[in-house]
Amino acid sequence: LPDEVRELLAARIHDVPDYPKPGVTFKDITPLLADPEAFSALTDVLAALVARHGATKVVGLEARGFILAAPAAVRAGVGFVPVRKAGKLPGATLSQTYDLEYGSAEIEIHAEDLGAGDRVLVIDDVLATGGTADASVQLIRRAGAEVAGVAMLLELSFLDGRSRVERALEGAPLDAL
Ligand code: AMP
Repeated sequence: LPDEVRELLAARIHDVPDYPKPGVTFKDITPLLADPEAFSALTDVLAALVARHGATKVVGLEARGFILAAPAAVRAGVGFVPVRKAGKLPGATLSQTYDLEYGSAEIEIHAEDLGAGDRVLVIDDVLATGGTADASVQLIRRAGAEVAGVAMLLELSFLDGRSRVERALEGAPLDAL
Protein backbone atom coordinates (compact mmCIF):
# COMPACT_ATOMS: atom_id res chain seq x y z
CA LEU A 1 0.00 0.00 0.00
CA PRO A 2 1.59 3.34 -1.03
CA ASP A 3 2.29 5.66 1.92
CA GLU A 4 0.09 8.44 0.56
CA VAL A 5 -2.88 6.06 0.25
CA ARG A 6 -2.32 4.68 3.75
CA GLU A 7 -2.14 8.24 5.13
CA LEU A 8 -5.29 9.28 3.26
CA LEU A 9 -7.23 6.28 4.59
CA ALA A 10 -5.89 6.63 8.14
CA ALA A 11 -6.83 10.31 8.24
CA ARG A 12 -10.44 9.41 7.34
CA ILE A 13 -10.89 6.79 10.08
CA HIS A 14 -11.89 8.42 13.33
CA ASP A 15 -11.35 7.04 16.82
CA VAL A 16 -14.49 7.40 18.95
CA PRO A 17 -13.65 6.81 22.61
CA ASP A 18 -15.98 4.83 24.87
CA TYR A 19 -18.34 3.74 22.09
CA PRO A 20 -20.48 1.62 22.12
CA LYS A 21 -19.42 1.12 25.74
CA PRO A 22 -16.80 2.46 28.18
CA GLY A 23 -13.27 1.29 27.43
CA VAL A 24 -13.89 0.53 23.74
CA THR A 25 -12.43 2.80 21.06
CA PHE A 26 -14.70 2.56 18.05
CA LYS A 27 -13.11 2.88 14.59
CA ASP A 28 -15.53 5.02 12.60
CA ILE A 29 -15.07 4.61 8.84
CA THR A 30 -17.94 6.91 7.80
CA PRO A 31 -15.59 9.89 7.08
CA LEU A 32 -13.69 7.62 4.66
CA LEU A 33 -16.93 6.58 2.93
CA ALA A 34 -18.01 10.22 2.62
CA ASP A 35 -14.76 11.17 0.84
CA PRO A 36 -14.95 9.97 -2.78
CA GLU A 37 -11.17 10.09 -3.26
CA ALA A 38 -10.49 7.96 -0.17
CA PHE A 39 -13.34 5.51 -0.85
CA SER A 40 -12.23 5.09 -4.46
CA ALA A 41 -8.59 4.57 -3.43
CA LEU A 42 -9.67 1.90 -0.93
CA THR A 43 -11.84 0.23 -3.58
CA ASP A 44 -8.85 0.12 -5.94
CA VAL A 45 -6.66 -1.49 -3.27
CA LEU A 46 -9.29 -4.12 -2.43
CA ALA A 47 -9.99 -4.85 -6.11
CA ALA A 48 -6.25 -5.33 -6.66
CA LEU A 49 -6.23 -7.89 -3.82
CA VAL A 50 -9.10 -9.77 -5.49
CA ALA A 51 -7.00 -10.02 -8.65
CA ARG A 52 -3.72 -10.81 -6.84
CA HIS A 53 -5.28 -13.69 -4.89
CA GLY A 54 -7.13 -15.02 -7.93
CA ALA A 55 -10.53 -14.69 -6.26
CA THR A 56 -13.68 -15.45 -8.26
CA LYS A 57 -16.06 -14.12 -5.58
CA VAL A 58 -16.00 -11.52 -2.83
CA VAL A 59 -17.77 -12.17 0.48
CA GLY A 60 -18.66 -9.13 2.59
CA LEU A 61 -19.47 -9.40 6.29
CA GLU A 62 -22.56 -7.61 7.62
CA ALA A 63 -22.81 -4.71 7.87
CA ARG A 64 -19.82 -2.45 7.15
CA GLY A 65 -18.10 -5.23 5.23
CA PHE A 66 -20.91 -4.95 2.66
CA ILE A 67 -20.05 -1.31 1.99
CA LEU A 68 -16.38 -2.06 1.31
CA ALA A 69 -16.76 -5.40 -0.44
CA ALA A 70 -19.51 -4.65 -2.97
CA PRO A 71 -17.71 -1.88 -4.91
CA ALA A 72 -14.46 -3.88 -4.80
CA ALA A 73 -16.25 -6.87 -6.34
CA VAL A 74 -17.74 -4.72 -9.09
CA ARG A 75 -14.40 -3.05 -9.83
CA ALA A 76 -12.64 -6.44 -9.93
CA GLY A 77 -15.35 -7.94 -12.15
CA VAL A 78 -16.41 -10.70 -9.76
CA GLY A 79 -19.62 -11.48 -7.89
CA PHE A 80 -20.53 -10.33 -4.39
CA VAL A 81 -21.96 -12.66 -1.73
CA PRO A 82 -23.19 -11.42 1.67
CA VAL A 83 -22.57 -13.17 4.98
CA ARG A 84 -25.49 -12.07 7.14
CA LYS A 85 -26.55 -12.28 10.72
CA ALA A 86 -28.91 -15.19 11.27
CA GLY A 87 -32.50 -14.86 10.06
CA LYS A 88 -31.98 -12.33 7.26
CA LEU A 89 -31.49 -14.52 4.18
CA PRO A 90 -34.65 -15.96 2.59
CA GLY A 91 -33.20 -18.97 0.76
CA ALA A 92 -31.53 -22.20 1.86
CA THR A 93 -28.68 -21.20 4.17
CA LEU A 94 -25.66 -22.65 5.88
CA SER A 95 -25.13 -21.24 9.35
CA GLN A 96 -22.22 -21.03 11.73
CA THR A 97 -22.28 -20.21 15.44
CA TYR A 98 -19.28 -18.70 17.20
CA ASP A 99 -18.47 -17.49 20.70
CA LEU A 100 -18.45 -13.86 21.75
CA GLU A 101 -17.07 -12.41 24.98
CA TYR A 102 -20.56 -12.88 26.43
CA GLY A 103 -22.81 -15.38 24.65
CA SER A 104 -22.63 -16.34 21.00
CA ALA A 105 -23.45 -15.11 17.51
CA GLU A 106 -24.70 -16.82 14.38
CA ILE A 107 -24.00 -15.93 10.75
CA GLU A 108 -25.43 -17.35 7.53
CA ILE A 109 -24.75 -17.57 3.81
CA HIS A 110 -26.92 -18.63 0.87
CA ALA A 111 -25.56 -22.07 0.04
CA GLU A 112 -26.28 -21.68 -3.68
CA ASP A 113 -24.25 -18.47 -4.04
CA LEU A 114 -20.94 -20.32 -3.70
CA GLY A 115 -19.71 -23.65 -4.90
CA ALA A 116 -16.82 -25.84 -5.99
CA GLY A 117 -14.52 -23.87 -8.26
CA ASP A 118 -15.06 -20.60 -6.41
CA ARG A 119 -12.12 -18.89 -4.72
CA VAL A 120 -13.34 -16.37 -2.19
CA LEU A 121 -11.82 -13.20 -0.76
CA VAL A 122 -13.49 -12.22 2.54
CA ILE A 123 -13.68 -8.47 3.23
CA ASP A 124 -14.58 -6.60 6.42
CA ASP A 125 -13.70 -3.28 8.00
CA VAL A 126 -12.17 -4.15 11.39
CA LEU A 127 -10.37 -7.26 12.62
CA ALA A 128 -10.98 -7.42 16.38
CA THR A 129 -11.05 -10.88 18.03
CA GLY A 130 -11.25 -12.56 14.62
CA GLY A 131 -14.34 -14.56 15.60
CA THR A 132 -16.47 -13.29 12.72
CA ALA A 133 -13.78 -13.81 10.10
CA ASP A 134 -12.96 -17.28 11.45
CA ALA A 135 -16.64 -18.32 11.30
CA SER A 136 -16.94 -16.89 7.78
CA VAL A 137 -13.99 -18.96 6.59
CA GLN A 138 -15.70 -22.08 7.98
CA LEU A 139 -18.98 -21.18 6.23
CA ILE A 140 -17.32 -20.64 2.86
CA ARG A 141 -15.55 -24.00 3.06
CA ARG A 142 -18.78 -25.72 4.05
CA ALA A 143 -20.40 -24.18 0.96
CA GLY A 144 -17.79 -26.08 -1.05
CA ALA A 145 -15.65 -23.10 -2.03
CA GLU A 146 -11.98 -22.33 -1.43
CA VAL A 147 -10.89 -19.35 0.69
CA ALA A 148 -8.43 -17.17 -1.23
CA GLY A 149 -7.82 -14.87 1.73
CA VAL A 150 -9.20 -12.34 4.17
CA ALA A 151 -8.78 -8.57 3.71
CA MET A 152 -9.47 -6.06 6.47
CA LEU A 153 -9.26 -2.30 6.35
CA LEU A 154 -7.75 -2.27 9.81
CA GLU A 155 -6.59 -4.58 12.53
CA LEU A 156 -6.74 -4.05 16.30
CA SER A 157 -3.43 -5.82 16.82
CA PHE A 158 -3.61 -5.79 20.65
CA LEU A 159 -6.56 -8.24 20.44
CA ASP A 160 -4.50 -10.67 18.32
CA GLY A 161 -7.41 -11.73 16.13
CA ARG A 162 -4.70 -12.33 13.55
CA SER A 163 -3.57 -15.63 15.09
CA ARG A 164 -7.15 -16.93 15.16
CA VAL A 165 -7.81 -15.98 11.53
CA GLU A 166 -4.42 -17.24 10.31
CA ARG A 167 -5.13 -20.59 11.97
CA ALA A 168 -8.46 -20.75 10.12
CA LEU A 169 -6.86 -19.69 6.84
CA GLU A 170 -4.37 -22.59 6.77
CA GLY A 171 -1.80 -20.64 4.74
CA ALA A 172 -4.09 -18.33 2.75
CA PRO A 173 -3.19 -14.64 3.20
CA LEU A 174 -4.62 -12.20 5.76
CA ASP A 175 -4.16 -8.63 4.58
CA ALA A 176 -4.82 -5.72 6.94
CA LEU A 177 -4.38 -2.41 5.15
P1 AMP B 1 -14.49 -9.73 15.73
O1 AMP B 1 -15.38 -10.86 15.33
O2 AMP B 1 -14.27 -9.66 17.20
O3 AMP B 1 -13.19 -9.69 14.95
O4 AMP B 1 -15.28 -8.41 15.44
C1 AMP B 1 -15.37 -7.98 14.19
C2 AMP B 1 -16.59 -7.15 13.94
O5 AMP B 1 -16.90 -6.20 14.98
C3 AMP B 1 -16.29 -6.40 12.70
O6 AMP B 1 -17.32 -6.62 11.77
C4 AMP B 1 -16.18 -4.95 13.13
O7 AMP B 1 -16.96 -4.17 12.26
C5 AMP B 1 -16.71 -4.87 14.53
N1 AMP B 1 -15.78 -4.22 15.48
C6 AMP B 1 -15.14 -4.80 16.51
N2 AMP B 1 -14.42 -3.93 17.21
C7 AMP B 1 -14.58 -2.74 16.58
C8 AMP B 1 -14.08 -1.41 16.83
N3 AMP B 1 -13.26 -1.13 17.85
N4 AMP B 1 -14.45 -0.43 15.98
C9 AMP B 1 -15.28 -0.70 14.95
N5 AMP B 1 -15.79 -1.90 14.69
C10 AMP B 1 -15.45 -2.93 15.49
